[in-house]
Amino acid sequence: MTKPLSLYVHIPFCVHHCAYCDFNTYVEPAQSALVKETVEAIGLDIAKASHERVEGKPLCERPLATIYFGGGTPTFLSVEQLTELMATIRSHFPLLPDAEISSEANPTSADVAKFAAMHALGFNRISIGIQAFDNALLTALDRFHTTAEAVHAYHAAREAGFTNVNLDLMFGLPKQTLPLWQATLEQAVQLAPEHLSLYALTIEPGTRFERLHVGGRLVLPDDDTVVAMYEYAQQRLLQAGYVHYEISNFSLPGFACRHNLVYWHNEEYLGVGPGAVSYVGGRRWKRERLPQRYVQKMKSGENLCVEEECLAPPRALDETLLLGLRLRAGISLNALRDRFGLDPLARYRRGIEKLVQQGLLEWNDDRLRVSTKGLPITDSVIVELLAGAEP
Ligand code: SF4
Repeated sequence: MTKPLSLYVHIPFCVHHCAYCDFNTYVEPAQSALVKETVEAIGLDIAKASHERVEGKPLCERPLATIYFGGGTPTFLSVEQLTELMATIRSHFPLLPDAEISSEANPTSADVAKFAAMHALGFNRISIGIQAFDNALLTALDRFHTTAEAVHAYHAAREAGFTNVNLDLMFGLPKQTLPLWQATLEQAVQLAPEHLSLYALTIEPGTRFERLHVGGRLVLPDDDTVVAMYEYAQQRLLQAGYVHYEISNFSLPGFACRHNLVYWHNEEYLGVGPGAVSYVGGRRWKRERLPQRYVQKMKSGENLCVEEECLAPPRALDETLLLGLRLRAGISLNALRDRFGLDPLARYRRGIEKLVQQGLLEWNDDRLRVSTKGLPITDSVIVELLAGAEP
């Protein structure tokens, strides 16, 4: 049977650039020529990519198991533009009958009519960037919507027929206390979405938040408070019936995001749109990031790829381990060995034993996972594990 594939579509536009965000996104008027040309170029990108041959076969022979529209703000596009892109995808790739088709949305970028049109196009999962149910915190975070608009967007998605909704929330925000975080979480639980993604605010280089932070003008909760927020969320969401399946992600049983699981299992995906990354056939490559250059290269037939690398073992093994340890179920060492033909124990035994001794990793027979104690510092645990790897 032909191996399924996942598709990521990057929409690099927003109505406002949030001060903490370092994503590849640009503020443009919705009617601008650049938006129109970028959507056309993404359509051509999909068509062209579908004919690329990997391991002797064109990608268009592989059915899509998941499609994810991310950004930026995919719902920045009009219904006509989203319709055009979905039609292009459907005319170039077969879709599995139960394909998961997700889109990110911002509270002010979609109403019932737009969500209903997206539902009719086949989208069956919506991820709304809520961040906080607190107007003062939203302002401190430089978001451009209110709590009322966030709640309204959630109900609009429901009214439009979506039965799989994710809410993105952030913690560790300027001026946020533990009780304020608890209040946001409580409101999320009351709305009962199928999925919640919780991200700690990080200060990214080159952002306005970084400049404020360096200048001492951004007062953030201390590390202990941020850890307390995360631990509270784990306990509260467990009590509310959610499964904690990835460091930052919780779902009702059966609603884990299948597209993101493809990334965490280090499986294959094709990425189209400015700056999108693809990983197929052991090769990872990235497309031109700036929309203007992306459009111009597409028009002139130039190669869109700006970076590429071949991931052979043991590097591919390291990456699969690194991604898999983000999952609460952890990773099977036997499965790693079968997939890469290398013995993970021979490579990581030193690090595993040390981290197990410190109580940061759990190792039961074949499975390795980050312990509850190690969870808030998962990144450092993984770095430590890889640092001790045998060549
Ligand atoms: S809406 Fe999202 S993608 Fe757009 S600037 Fe804000 S955080 Fe970044």
